[in-house]
Amino acid sequence: MLKAVDITKVYPSNRVRALEKFSIDIKPGEIMGLLGPNGAGKSTFVRIAVGVLDRDLGSLSVCGYDSDSERKKISNLVSWIPQEGTSKMILNRTGRENIIYYSWIKGLSRKESERRIDELLEKLNIDKRILNKTYRIMSGGQKQLTNIINGLIMDSKLLFCDEISVSIDPIITKSIYDYLREYTSDGRAVLLTSQNISEVENLSDRIAIIQSGKLVALDKPREISKKILKYEVIDLIFENDVVENKAFSSFNSELEEQKYFQSEELNNNVLHIRSDNANKLLKSILVLLEKYSLNPSIESGKANLSMALQMLKKEEEK
Ligand code: ADP
Repeated sequence: MLKAVDITKVYPSNRVRALEKFSIDIKPGEIMGLLGPNGAGKSTFVRIAVGVLDRDLGSLSVCGYDSDSERKKISNLVSWIPQEGTSKMILNRTGRENIIYYSWIKGLSRKESERRIDELLEKLNIDKRILNKTYRIMSGGQKQLTNIINGLIMDSKLLFCDEISVSIDPIITKSIYDYLREYTSDGRAVLLTSQNISEVENLSDRIAIIQSGKLVALDKPREISKKILKYEVIDLIFENDVVENKAFSSFNSELEEQKYFQSEELNNNVLHIRSDNANKLLKSILVLLEKYSLNPSIESGKANLSMALQMLKKEEEK
């Protein structure tokens, strides 16, 4: 359905390397989650894949068509729900008028558009009055719902959803996800970008993880979770400068030998300790802190996505 090989993109204005030999494939009937922290390159990839941004290097085919020579054919087969705030809706028209206008450009009659809009509003549990508002005065969430209906209306073979759940209430989000499941049941495919691991984990058949424009992992959610969520973090927050402190150095050397210790990083007198079992490691840490008369504040929890990605990357580099 989509095959991207070694896509590289450097923005000329600031020379940011947004994508670096990024490769991904999406199969018919698949929901692919594209997960990564802010600025990882997700939107850049989506914009290249839907044909509104040129890549510098690499090859791309969508629905079997080459993205250079057959771009027009591709644009008739894909739909795109862009990130909130980046859509091209006409501000002084209502949501409904906007959707009808854009679907007319894509070849849908007004009557058919009206029918599909009403069908989607009902399926997704969206209050139909929202679309009667002028786009300019809609809330962020209402604008996003307008964009979602606009993206779903064509029933395209390949649908790109770029962080669509931001600013939408959980009940509607749930019905959108249910709808996406149904959407792919006859071979259509979806690419869903997000920064939220649990959102992507529950919905996707496979997950691609992107960091600094590079593909870090691509696998089934269970395999990805096994890799990523095994990490936990313990932060020791020291009040004073510890870099030159002898007791701290001795503490640190012993810490590195503890079972369940994985790695650490000292940042502004906060020691970030990574563990595959924080509870158990914490017990040894408390003993060591007592031994060396150190008294930092302690915080412990699951690694957030950005940390988890850093760890994954380090692990792969080893
Ligand atoms: P994500 O969607 O994962 O948050 P983006 O693809 O939006 O990431 O951005 C990837 C990188 O490219 C970031 O460093 C971002 O600042 C940069 N970038 C995105 N769009 C542009 C642009 N139009 N011009 C210059 N740099 C950009």
